[in-house]
Amino acid sequence: MKVKPKKHLGQHFLRDLSIAEDIAKSLTGHGQYSEVLEIGPGMGVLTDFLILEQKRLSVIEIDKESVVYLHKKYDAEKLNIIEGDFLRLALDQLYSQPFALIGNFPYNISSQIFFKVLDYKNLIPEVVCMLQKEVAERICSPAGSRDYGILSVLLQAYYKTEYLFTVEPHVFEPPPKVRSGVIRVTRNEVQKLDCDEVLFKSVIKMAFNMRRKTLRNALKALNLPDTVMSQKIFDQRAEQLDVKDFIFLTNLTAANRTGQVLQGD
Ligand code: SAH
Repeated sequence: MKVKPKKHLGQHFLRDLSIAEDIAKSLTGHGQYSEVLEIGPGMGVLTDFLILEQKRLSVIEIDKESVVYLHKKYDAEKLNIIEGDFLRLALDQLYSQPFALIGNFPYNISSQIFFKVLDYKNLIPEVVCMLQKEVAERICSPAGSRDYGILSVLLQAYYKTEYLFTVEPHVFEPPPKVRSGVIRVTRNEVQKLDCDEVLFKSVIKMAFNMRRKTLRNALKALNLPDTVMSQKIFDQRAEQLDVKDFIFLTNLTAANRTGQVLQGD
């Protein structure tokens, strides 16, 4: 008996076992953690390969039917099956040691998953996942490219991001409407940015909210003095700035703003 795919849960089951194996093998930071958490195992196509590794493996799955299927398929000693919503999972209660995150993510919540990863960045040294190709590309885009956005800068501040390979729709049941991309995200050395990190996030959001405008216009509400606003960096648009530039901008903002009060004050 197979699990019936449910559209509202983003269920597209991978049928190609060699792709599943390639994804499982893309976890490379083995020395840094002894546990792995898989999001959305479905019928376990990826789990079958992960379970071969010498790590403690847990899975979190929101779909009851899949959970019943998984309990029948796997020995409880080998696999810790959690029924629930990853977005509501208290990761710091579940883990006191670093763990890796992996999964063929439900595409509708993949950005939210990464915002949660950022909240727990010191517990999560590595993420390998498949997601919608455009989101995968955005996360891995360097400054200056069209796809570059809020999630790109925030993740790249704390992680190295790598686009690994593209997966075509026909290898899924049912096939999704979009192509998919597999990425690896690895925690970098940065413990704390050289600026107010909450303000950093606010400045990035504000800048990208008007991504077509120059920073001089996009950040008008900060009411920085003209002597500051005349600096060259304000001729640029948000998508042209890398992490270093945003740190510089955050420090300029912290030292000079008189206008709108941002989070982080
Ligand atoms: N890993 C499987 C299934 C991928 S489809 C495979 O590759 O074939 C995405 C899976 O995520 C589905 O099983 C879906 O039920 C599950 N899912 C969706 N939203 C979830 C959430 N919020 N938390 C945990 N699992 C979720």
